[in-house]
Amino acid sequence: MSAPRSATTRVSSARAPKLDAVAAGAVDVARAALVDEVGESSVGEHLGVRAEGDRVVTHLFATALPGYRGWHWSVTVARALRQKRVTVDEVVLLPGEDAIIAPPWTPYKDRVRSGDMNPGDLLPPEENDPRLAPAWFVGDDAVDAEVDPTSVRPIADEVGLGRVEVLSLEGRDAAAQRWYDGAHGPDTSLAQQAPAPCRTCGFMVWLSPPLGTLFGVCANAMANDDGKVVSFDHGCGAHSEARVSRASAALPTPVHDTVTVDDVADAEPV
Ligand code: SF4
Repeated sequence: MSAPRSATTRVSSARAPKLDAVAAGAVDVARAALVDEVGESSVGEHLGVRAEGDRVVTHLFATALPGYRGWHWSVTVARALRQKRVTVDEVVLLPGEDAIIAPPWTPYKDRVRSGDMNPGDLLPPEENDPRLAPAWFVGDDAVDAEVDPTSVRPIADEVGLGRVEVLSLEGRDAAAQRWYDGAHGPDTSLAQQAPAPCRTCGFMVWLSPPLGTLFGVCANAMANDDGKVVSFDHGCGAHSEARVSRASAALPTPVHDTVTVDDVADAEPV
């Protein structure tokens, strides 16, 4: 039984191209085209050939361009059926395996970091941002049908329920983890050498739950963290209960020098 026609076609299109002897031998043609394009001083030795397709061959040349270590010139030539002459298709500079190349493109939206915003900049959240959840639920539409939404929703606005979107559980958890792991969490040297944690500090303003079960806001103008969200187990030396002990505050005891002579000639009599 013969193979289906489509299978035969697939096999023939997947075969490795045969190196065309005429195109592979056209090193001088390829080099001349390359020199014409980039100048003699930029072209190094011939590195080899690679079959691209039927009667299509790429010649590789080393590059002498400074700063392009690991790159090579690539000159592709082709020959028409039953022709002896080749023509040059393209001349390009390509990176090899050892080439230094730019890292993969990162979209701008993924590059922005906290602190990058300038006055006048706009950074809208993405559509379906998982950090946000709708504040008006599906059921609200049914309520709207029963009551006048223009009278209900302004009241909701007044009591703080009128936002279109609120922080989702995912957004809340991500914020809590970020804050806890950051400079206002428990793992900083400032916190670890604090006399007591923020939880017991009179300068900490408590937040409402659920974030308020772990975080507050520092309101001590003298503290590094003034105005920042701090975890309960953060802390600093400006804690409201911090005291300087008598031992460390006491002046050193005077010592009478009995070995050398003190110069007391100009001293006032006591
Ligand atoms: S003053 Fe220090 S201990 Fe008190 S809330 Fe601020 S950071 Fe925490």
